[in-house]
Amino acid sequence: MNLVMPNMDEFRKHAQQAIEWIARYYENIEDYPVKSQVQPGEIYNELPASMPDTGEQIDRMIRDFDDTLLKGITHWQSPKFFAYFPANTSVPSMVAEMMTAAMGVQGMKWETSPAAAELEQKVMEWLRDAIGLPGEFEGTIQDSASTSTLVSILTAREKATGYAVNEEGLEGKGAFRVYGSVETHSSIERAVKVAGLGRKNFVKVPVDEAYRMRPGELEAAIKRDLQDGHRPLCIVATLGTTGSTSIDPLPRIAEISEKYGIWLHVDAAFAGSALILKDYRWMIEGMEAVDTFVFNPHKWLFTNFDSSAYFVRDARALTNTFQLIPEYLKTRSDEQVNNYSDWTIPLGRRFRALKLWFVLRYYGLNGLQEKLTRHIEMAKTFEQQVNEHPHFERLAPRTMNVVCFRMNPGDITSKEQLNALNEELLHSINRSGEIYLTHTRLDGKYTLRMVIAQTHVEDRHVEQAWEVIRHTAKDIHASM
Ligand SMILES: *Cc1c(COP(=O)(O)O)cnc(C)c1O
Repeated sequence: MNLVMPNMDEFRKHAQQAIEWIARYYENIEDYPVKSQVQPGEIYNELPASMPDTGEQIDRMIRDFDDTLLKGITHWQSPKFFAYFPANTSVPSMVAEMMTAAMGVQGMKWETSPAAAELEQKVMEWLRDAIGLPGEFEGTIQDSASTSTLVSILTAREKATGYAVNEEGLEGKGAFRVYGSVETHSSIERAVKVAGLGRKNFVKVPVDEAYRMRPGELEAAIKRDLQDGHRPLCIVATLGTTGSTSIDPLPRIAEISEKYGIWLHVDAAFAGSALILKDYRWMIEGMEAVDTFVFNPHKWLFTNFDSSAYFVRDARALTNTFQLIPEYLKTRSDEQVNNYSDWTIPLGRRFRALKLWFVLRYYGLNGLQEKLTRHIEMAKTFEQQVNEHPHFERLAPRTMNVVCFRMNPGDITSKEQLNALNEELLHSINRSGEIYLTHTRLDGKYTLRMVIAQTHVEDRHVEQAWEVIRHTAKDIHASM
């Protein structure tokens, strides 16, 4: 080991080992149990109690990784991963991420790497145009949709108070109210808590039979709050809820936000990617009233975590909220450039634009459209099979590539028993390691979610999944 100079021969050797490891990993990925089968504490207990006194060879770490850690990995890049929403990567994304790690750029200010800042500006314009957002939106890459939403709510809070809460705190400002549907992602409620607004001021608006926010109920809640002397601050509309991928009716919600002058944030973390398809542009009708919009290329656009695309109509309001320039961070270019640390919470920023640039260029818009269309087609086929099977049923409308369903053998009348049976089905499926599914609860019903969005998923994987699901159902309930 050479501690003085980077030894590039040594680097080449180990980097090649790592690349070989990655290639083999992908070649064998379908052989691993998709969901890790280890028990709590199993990995921890196999690891030494203290760090080594003297340095070790990288070969050994790679070997130990295979022996100790690999069994504790859940394989998100397996084409048989149908759980949650995906956290996809792809070849161009991996290659770019290696280069990013090598340069170790700290992209907090333009001057700390002009290319990182200007590439970010450019790829966000590409993305904005590709998903059909109006040209006045500017974008930045956040680490997660959770951060994007928090940043949005903080900006709303500051804009509504003339940036006074930043200066004076919240005391005497009244109760700011934030509205989302009951199907809104938990990150919204968390953002309301973290922003100091108080969780009880997050108003959960009821949904319709397709799990979409009811605009009439939203307006009624706002009117009640105004009568009570509260301050309606922000509405969060969800395009693609985590439970069932339902799409809140943006045009109606936009009207309400304009009528009452309330900040409007759109959480399209997963489903926003579908906006590259013209067929889904209807989702953003009403965009004229939207202040901020987030979607995650690290979900369904093949760019590895973390990559959350956050778009704002009024970038000045954003930077006014977050900018803080101590003497040691002042630079001569401050007035002419985007310093993206002013667009978010942490000072430090990874060079995240590079992997997005690689991905967008590698696939091209047509390539991305083709992949997403394939995923939606596969989901359509899967849905049909569920619909046609006498002992399975769909539990929510399919809006794109997520199918919500359960087994219902017909000889069980108790709601609780049917829920317990489906819970058992899910766990039996996941224990097999063949595929990985997760669940939600819709209308009190234990619901399995089949999410067909993995970078490398093909028809045969979905066919195999349907077979595993049917066989497992038969195994746990005789009449299936
Ligand atoms: C995944 C998801 C989030 C959270 O995304 P992170 O990037 O993990 O913070 C928020 N909202 C919706 C609708 C999601 O699907």
